[in-house]
Amino acid sequence: MATAPDEADVDEFLSNRGHETERPGWEHDYAKKQCPECGGLHDEAATECSACGWRPRAD
Ligand SMILES: [Zn+2]
Repeated sequence: MATAPDEADVDEFLSNRGHETERPGWEHDYAKKQCPECGGLHDEAATECSACGWRPRAD
């Protein structure tokens, strides 16, 4: 298959995972926050990712 993924495939992929592109924010994994950029796990008190520097968009 030489066909690259098209936008429909991407939309379906994102829909399956939620709406991460609409509202950037922490993922949650058990009692941890998970960085959506690098997947790093952090305590609930974390305000930014210490691994890659990502932080949620301010309200
Ligand atoms: Zn990160």
